[in-house]
Amino acid sequence: MADVQLQATGIRKLFGGFVALDDISIDIERGEFLTLLGPSGSGKTTFLNILAGFEAPTGGRLLQDGTDITHRPAEERDFGMVFQGYALFPHMTVERNVAFPLRVRKVAKAEQAERVAKALEVVGLSAHAGKRPSELSGGQQQRVALARAIVFEPDMLLLDEPLSALDKNLREQLQEELQRIHREIRTTFVFVTHDQSEALALSSRVAIFNHGRLQQIGAPDEVYTRPASRFVAEFLGQIN
Ligand code: ADP
Repeated sequence: MADVQLQATGIRKLFGGFVALDDISIDIERGEFLTLLGPSGSGKTTFLNILAGFEAPTGGRLLQDGTDITHRPAEERDFGMVFQGYALFPHMTVERNVAFPLRVRKVAKAEQAERVAKALEVVGLSAHAGKRPSELSGGQQQRVALARAIVFEPDMLLLDEPLSALDKNLREQLQEELQRIHREIRTTFVFVTHDQSEALALSSRVAIFNHGRLQQIGAPDEVYTRPASRFVAEFLGQIN
């Protein structure tokens, strides 16, 4: 049986009278690479923000390992986050940027150094520890953000379109990196993208959203070969 880490049940989100999310239920399995896929405005980021604790749902609940965390503040959820434009501190070295979540958590200095070195090694940036973000490429900066998110060994990693600002070659390179990192650290990944091919290439499961509703959830080959609706078939058949 699947090991459910985070259970979202009947999640609803209204902005004024507008229904951004309508009755979303997803069981997130421990260690999976789950991608939230859908066109722009379909509710993916809103759902991720609710998982992160940045937004409160209008209805429904979230259980983490059976504990109700629906109203737990973001800083008390042990989730790592890599959001688009989630800026690095420009005045700090790579090393200090990555150490930031450990300093906030008051982790002992020696352990900080050890964990930062390990996180930088995982993302392939050990040689750049002393540089400032401005001395790095866009892809390298995104890796620093990734190292900063994994350094405190989060229960789950939430990634909102982390690759969409990068050019095609770099994006493909980082897609492979992400898969490798996922295998290596074995943390649950919840990844948002509007790019079908990226979702199908990366994920163990894909959850397809449209107009705030969950259209289908399943393994990439399953949703691709057996789309549950005309919308899913058309959306996955689209050429980028
Ligand atoms: P996606 O990530 O799939 O592009 P979003 O979750 O960002 O979609 O948005 C879903 C819908 O909710 C969109 O129509 C968006 O305009 C609306 N929305 C998102 N955040 C807010 C907000 N803070 N206030 C009002 N409407 C919002």
